[in-house]
Amino acid sequence: AKHLGRNRICMFKPEMNVLVQQRLQMEQAIRQGLINQEFLVVYQPQANVTTGQLCGLEALVRWQHNQQMIAPDAFISIAEQCGLITELDFYVFASVCRQISHWHAELTDVAIAVNFSALSFMDAQFVVRIHAIMAQYQIRGDQVKIEMTESTLMHDANESLLKMQQLRAVGIHFSIDDFGTGYSSLAYLKRFPFSELKIDRSFINDVCTDPDSAALVRSMISMGHNLGISVIAEGVETAAQLGFLAKAGCDDIQGYFYARPLSVEVCWEKLQHKNTA
Ligand code: C2E
Ligand code: CA
Ligand code: CA
Ligand code: CA
Repeated sequence: AKHLGRNRICMFKPEMNVLVQQRLQMEQAIRQGLINQEFLVVYQPQANVTTGQLCGLEALVRWQHNQQMIAPDAFISIAEQCGLITELDFYVFASVCRQISHWHAELTDVAIAVNFSALSFMDAQFVVRIHAIMAQYQIRGDQVKIEMTESTLMHDANESLLKMQQLRAVGIHFSIDDFGTGYSSLAYLKRFPFSELKIDRSFINDVCTDPDSAALVRSMISMGHNLGISVIAEGVETAAQLGFLAKAGCDDIQGYFYARPLSVEVCWEKLQHKNTA
């Protein structure tokens, strides 16, 4: 293992070589998938706890590859590692804006939330690219929402704040995703113009069985409200969880109990129903 240069490959075990190979193939497949438009977007409805009305949608990417539908957990982190995530995130954002321009009549008071990786948000052209895509599809700021995790802000707090302010100025709202799983306090996060806090699914999962989770969820809701931030719970699967959240004063919910992520066609029907209900 001392010979570098030509013999460096000998330092790897054969099974590591296979992993590297698979990784490279995956990277190539994602790159090709972007060119072939193999990525599509599904939409998961969000509902107001009090009225039960649909109040938002979250855009979630899917990869239709070799007759299979691949979930993001299988490719997002690889796309991040090989530098393709920004292309992917903006591909999704453009798809969402195109969808909004088709759906605008059905989307009264319903914004569509889009996930952006920290790497995408850190891109120097982030704000410019958002503006360009919105202009292309003639989208207003209040029709979209940006979801990001708190770790996104840690890389460069001042730069992040500036970007958020520029986008808030055109009406775009921001949501803190996976709240409760990171290390930042809400006291720190209040420096940034977030409108919504999204309580991570892991807390909702055992909110009815684990008193610690229940206490944490209650305190996240009241901390959010004290800062004037609306609170949504993700991963709500049961009536009991919804009951708990309603009692705790949570504003909105998202999860299988209300609706699964839906294809464009099914989502469109749901929007029709909302407007005639
Ligand atoms: P996330 O942003 O936390 O999205 C919520 C995830 O929870 C989604 O998984 C959704 O399908 C799932 N989910 C919703 N309701 C329930 C429920 O009641 N129970 C359970 N068990 N799960 C529920 P999905 O679609 O597989 O996405 C996984 C993650 O991939 C997302 O987590 C997000 O971090 C990332 N992701 C998805 N789309 C994009 C994208 O366009 N760009 C980036 N950068 N990341 C994305
Ligand atoms: Ca999200
Ligand atoms: Ca989340
Ligand atoms: Ca999550």
